[in-house]
Amino acid sequence: MTHKDVLIIGFGIAGASIAHRLNRYGKSFDIVSNNSQQATRVAGGVLNPIVLKRYKKAWKANEFYSSAVKFYADIESKLDTSFIKQPNLFKLLQTPQDCNDFISATEQPYISNFLTGIKPPSHSVLSTSVIKLGEVNHIYTLDLNTFLDGSISYFNDSFYSNDFNYNNLKVEDSLISYQSKSYQYVIFCEGYGVNHNPYFNYLPIYGNKGEYLIIHSKELNSNHSIYKSKFFLIPLGKHLYKFGANYQRHDLNNEPTEATRHELSKAFEKMFSVNYEIVSQLAGIRPTVKDRRPILGRHPKHSQLLIFNGNGSRGVLASPYLSKNLVQHIFNNQPILEEVDVMRYDV
Ligand SMILES: Cc1cc2nc3c(=O)[nH]c(=O)nc-3n(C[C@H](O)[C@H](O)[C@H](O)COP(=O)(O)OP(=O)(O)OC[C@H]3O[C@@H](n4cnc5c(N)ncnc54)[C@H](O)[C@@H]3O)c2cc1C
Repeated sequence: MTHKDVLIIGFGIAGASIAHRLNRYGKSFDIVSNNSQQATRVAGGVLNPIVLKRYKKAWKANEFYSSAVKFYADIESKLDTSFIKQPNLFKLLQTPQDCNDFISATEQPYISNFLTGIKPPSHSVLSTSVIKLGEVNHIYTLDLNTFLDGSISYFNDSFYSNDFNYNNLKVEDSLISYQSKSYQYVIFCEGYGVNHNPYFNYLPIYGNKGEYLIIHSKELNSNHSIYKSKFFLIPLGKHLYKFGANYQRHDLNNEPTEATRHELSKAFEKMFSVNYEIVSQLAGIRPTVKDRRPILGRHPKHSQLLIFNGNGSRGVLASPYLSKNLVQHIFNNQPILEEVDVMRYDV
């Protein structure tokens, strides 16, 4: 029976971050993943440490942001591919109060590194309801499909594109076996699919569906700028843009809905006065936790089974730092960050 250090279940941003960390530590692993969950593949990929609605730092913004910037840049060169962009981001300000709030935020510590100032809207494509643009710098966007596909090719010999069958997992005191292989540890990274996991489905991980419209418009002509109102407009190239995403707690599947198409197209027309065409619509389920903190660590009864989940709406920001924390916990006995430790929940 072949033996490896780790079996990773699920290859979204959580599983992929763990795989790159293990690879860096020289650990052996296999990955089993299907396409039942799509959060990472449909995500906007915005790497942003500021909550732009309220001009607050995201939780652990400093640590998460600096870890993420370095992590993704290292992977870009490791995979010899390009998936990171650094666009301009403009918050669309519609009232004098919006402008005052933005200006006050530019004076706050840390936030002032990102929010620089306001300027008049130069773009004729914006609707007349936009009175100023708030400039936000040092935001990145990641093409997460290129990141995932490049990572799958890189780990090709260890990657199995299959459903994980929980019934075939044999958990014994010192060793775990799955089909014909044995492992020291299993790390579950199934996103919202965790609700089918008999070991961890006791955790309060709830689905929150998000959808984007894919818009084609030659008139928008905004290849290097993201616009943020209630929703993001993210340029994809070739006159295509992502517009969204919304949040909803029903219809928890990957099917786009007519109601969201209506909601997003109305919001788009409120901000932009251009001709456009909706060419497709994408949906995915964010794995969210009631206390808004991710969940990582060991199963309370089976310490060789671990989880990395609950990244909510900021998986791109949080995964690099947290994957390091989990891998260092397993192999270097480093404590799990208290706020995200799975042990905060009873079985
Ligand atoms: C519309 C939308 C927009 C978003 N935009 C952003 C953004 O701009 N910035 C940001 O930071 N975050 C964003 N997010 C949040 C981010 O996408 C999530 O935090 C993150 O993708 C969650 O990653 P994950 O790896 O935990 O889950 P997932 O990406 O869902 O990956 C889980 C993987 O496990 C697989 N799996 C599950 N069960 C099994 C099984 N039994 N057998 C085999 N494989 C299995 C799934 O198929 C999937 O491949 C967005 C989310 C959505 C939905």
